[in-house]
Amino acid sequence: MSEFDYDLFVIGAGSGGVRAARIAAELGARVAIAEEDQVGGTCVIRGCVPKKLLVHASEFAEAVEDSVGFGWTIDGLRFDWPTLRDHVRADVNWLSGIYIRNLEKSGAELIRSRAVIEDKHRIRLLADGRTVTTRYILVATGGWPVRGTAIPGLEHAVTSNEMFHLDRMPERLLVVGGGYIAVEFAGVFNGLGAKTTVLYRGHEILSRFDGDIRRMVHAGMAKRGVEVICGDMITAIEKTETGFVGVTLHDRRIAADTVLLAMGRRPNTAGFGLEEAGVALGKLGEIVVDAFSRSSVDNIYAVGDVTDRVNLTPVAIREGHAVAENLFGGASITLDYDCIPTAVFSQPEAGTVGLTEETALARYPSVDIYRSTFKPLHHRVAGRDERMLVKLVVDADTDRVLGFHAVGHGAGEMAQLVGIAVRMRATKADFDATMAVHPTQSEEIVTMRKPAERHRRDPAAEPKLASAS
Ligand code: NDP
Repeated sequence: MSEFDYDLFVIGAGSGGVRAARIAAELGARVAIAEEDQVGGTCVIRGCVPKKLLVHASEFAEAVEDSVGFGWTIDGLRFDWPTLRDHVRADVNWLSGIYIRNLEKSGAELIRSRAVIEDKHRIRLLADGRTVTTRYILVATGGWPVRGTAIPGLEHAVTSNEMFHLDRMPERLLVVGGGYIAVEFAGVFNGLGAKTTVLYRGHEILSRFDGDIRRMVHAGMAKRGVEVICGDMITAIEKTETGFVGVTLHDRRIAADTVLLAMGRRPNTAGFGLEEAGVALGKLGEIVVDAFSRSSVDNIYAVGDVTDRVNLTPVAIREGHAVAENLFGGASITLDYDCIPTAVFSQPEAGTVGLTEETALARYPSVDIYRSTFKPLHHRVAGRDERMLVKLVVDADTDRVLGFHAVGHGAGEMAQLVGIAVRMRATKADFDATMAVHPTQSEEIVTMRKPAERHRRDPAAEPKLASAS
């Protein structure tokens, strides 16, 4: 008989927590997982999944516009927000149910309660006041949208959490921020018909992305009717008779009926006993962990956004899986955080993996940039005045492809596939030797022959590869 009620107690049934609980239970551990909200976490309930469905919904407007060039006439088109909202909600509920069934099948016990750590082996369940004991604790409580610095009228604004449940479709939307959530939601509601403005403090949106992606997504959003204002900040939200006015540092007054704050997310670490148990937190409140996701307390682990490493669902899943395998499967897995592909489901879409041009130039003395901007076949007949981008960042000394960046339809799918090659350290010669699939947009990735730019830190030095040949 074990001295503990459970081998592993997981707090938070999101992507990372559920994966860890299932794998641990399948490996024979006695596992409990506590969730105070709907099972599925940010990604399933109020993030990636419902967001992508909204993106699909909003793209129909463009598809209908494009269809005219292909001979279609579509009359009587109208959009109904409550239908979309409720269908998305139903899909989310269905997925949450699958998560629950998968947990049950694995043998993990799902506990519907907020869980508070009393000490390193004891957890109090607020739903019924019980205290249970456990050998290991895994914290997978994710993150929560920040509402930014206090400005007058901040209480009138919503975050991405609320956007999925709006009673009415916004007619005029003001989005504050210039990251993933800002550009994705701006694209969605612009596509669905809202007059949309993005207000971003920096000089260009998507600050952590390659410069070409940033400029092209901005231009593509503007072409679709989104007003993108950079270099300005919101200083107040005033209530008016018809809605709100966002007042900015540079005295702009932007009318809106919905103001969305998309200014990043913070780790969800407050109020469940972490500090009292001696778990070290970082500057943003994140749980500080080592390469095995172990916190400063030797039996308390943490995965996903609560650790503020790379805040993406697939990363949390891999981290959760690794913890379970390491604790109960005799494994010793650490994750490789290099070359993580990612997509921004903006309109136009962006996909990326590896180094940006700017980072490559800072790290490597000789860098070649291969860039193709082209009008996809579809756009020619549709009469859509937009080009697609594919770009390779190459270390000219070794010929290794350091980064891939794309903007346009399918850019996210491309990033997933090119990500394998970039991670395997493929060279530009490998890309060149790969036969094109014709006619596709991706064929441009293997048909760029000449660099658009050659950057040499020392203009006199030949790249090592050239001097070796
Ligand atoms: P991001 O970190 O992507 O962007 C935050 C934005 O808010 C940036 O433009 C930032 O500006 C701005 N900002 C931050 N603080 C302030 C402030 N005080 N005043 C004004 N502007 C501010 O966060 P998001 O909220 O968009 O998304 C959260 C996370 O969720 C992402 O980092 C990502 O990990 C994940 N996510 C992933 C998606 C995907 O994979 N497709 C989709 C959605 C979210 P600056 O750049 O100047 O710092």
